[in-house]
Amino acid sequence: MPVAAIIVAGGKGERLGGATPKQFLPLGNRTILQRSVAAFDAHPLVDRIVVVLPAKLDTDATTLVGLTSKPCVTTTGGERRQDSVRNGLARVDRDIDVVLVHDAARPFASAALIERVIGATRRTGAAVPAMSAKDTVKFVPAGDSLVQRTIPRGEIWLAQTPQGFRRSVLELAVSAGDAHPNATDEAMLVEATGGSVEVVPGDEHNVKITTNADLNTARRAAEVAPRVGTGYDLHRLVSGRPLVLAGVVVPFDRGPLGHSDGDVISHSVVDAILGAAALGDIGQHFSNTDPRWKDMPGEEFLRRAAAIVGERGWRVANVDVTVVLERPKLAPHVHEIRARIASALGIDAGLVSVKGKTNEGVDAVGRGEAIAAHAVAVLAIGGPDV
Ligand code: MG
Repeated sequence: MPVAAIIVAGGKGERLGGATPKQFLPLGNRTILQRSVAAFDAHPLVDRIVVVLPAKLDTDATTLVGLTSKPCVTTTGGERRQDSVRNGLARVDRDIDVVLVHDAARPFASAALIERVIGATRRTGAAVPAMSAKDTVKFVPAGDSLVQRTIPRGEIWLAQTPQGFRRSVLELAVSAGDAHPNATDEAMLVEATGGSVEVVPGDEHNVKITTNADLNTARRAAEVAPRVGTGYDLHRLVSGRPLVLAGVVVPFDRGPLGHSDGDVISHSVVDAILGAAALGDIGQHFSNTDPRWKDMPGEEFLRRAAAIVGERGWRVANVDVTVVLERPKLAPHVHEIRARIASALGIDAGLVSVKGKTNEGVDAVGRGEAIAAHAVAVLAIGGPDV
C-alpha cells in the first residue's frame, strides 16, 4: 500500500508587515520546510512527496524544497488550507492509497509518529496524532468572558499533523470542503462526512512554529549556532560635507561623499548584520539609486537592518567596529558613537565596541583622502516576537 505525504507550506505566503512565512526561515543548516520534507523523505514507509507552496514565490520551488531522495513534486496552494490540500491531492499518483497531510511548520515529526499515523490510517481509514490536554479546560462561549462550564480534560485531544487518510476518505472529505469552509484540518472534514477518525499518541516535540517565541524554542532544540557576519565600507572625504558617524557629528573640515550621509560605521555594521543572516548587503536593501535613501542618516539603516533580521528570528548579540581614519582623532567621540549604535539596534551599549585606527600615512586612507570601517556582528537566537 504505497504512501504519499502532502506537505502544506502556506497559502498566499504573505503575513502582516511582509514578513517571510515562518516555514521558509532557517532552522540550523536547513529551512523549517526542508526539515519537514526531510522527515518524510527519510521515512521507509513513505514513497512519494507533494509540497504545496504559495502561489507567489521569490525563489524557485526546487531550492525551497531542498534535495530529496524520493520522487517529489510541487504545486501551488489556494485561498484556504483545504484548497491547498485539494491541489496537493490532485498531484498524488493514482496508485497511492494512503495519503498523509502535514503542516510544513512542524519540522520535528518523528519516524515513530509517522509510523503510528500510517498504521492507524490502514486500520480505520483516517487518523490524527494528538496530545491529551494537561491543563484544566474551560468552555467560554464566543464573544463572552465568563466560563460556562469546565470540560472533562480526559475527553480533550489537541490535534497535530501528519494526519493520515485512505485516499478515498480524503477525496470524499475534500469534496465536502465547500459545505464546511471554516474547517481547520482535514480530519474535521472526515468527521463532517460521517467517517471515523482514530486518535494516536502525538509527540510533544512535534510543535507547530507560529510565533518567533516558537522559532526560538525550535532553534534551541535544533542547537542552532550563533551567526557571524563581516562588513566593510569606505567613503572619499571631501570639503563641504559634515563628518557624521552613527549620528554623532565629529568636527572636521571634510566629510564623506555619498548618496546617503556616507556614515562608514553604520554602513559597515549594517553589512555585518545582513551578512550574518545571509541576507545580502546594504545596497540590495537600500539601493543608492533610490531617492528614499538619499541623505538618509546611517542610524536609520541600523534600525532597519536590526528589524530585517529581527523578523527572521535573530537578535544582534554584539558588534565590533574598527574605523580607519587619519584625522581627526576618534577617541573623544567613541563613547557617544557606541551609545548611538546601541540605541539604533535596540541593544545595550556594552554589546557595541568601536575602535579608531590610523593608516600610518600609507595609501589613500593614510593620506586623509578617505575614511574606512571594518565591522563584525554576531546574531543570536531570539528576534522580537512578531
Ligand atoms: Mg557607505
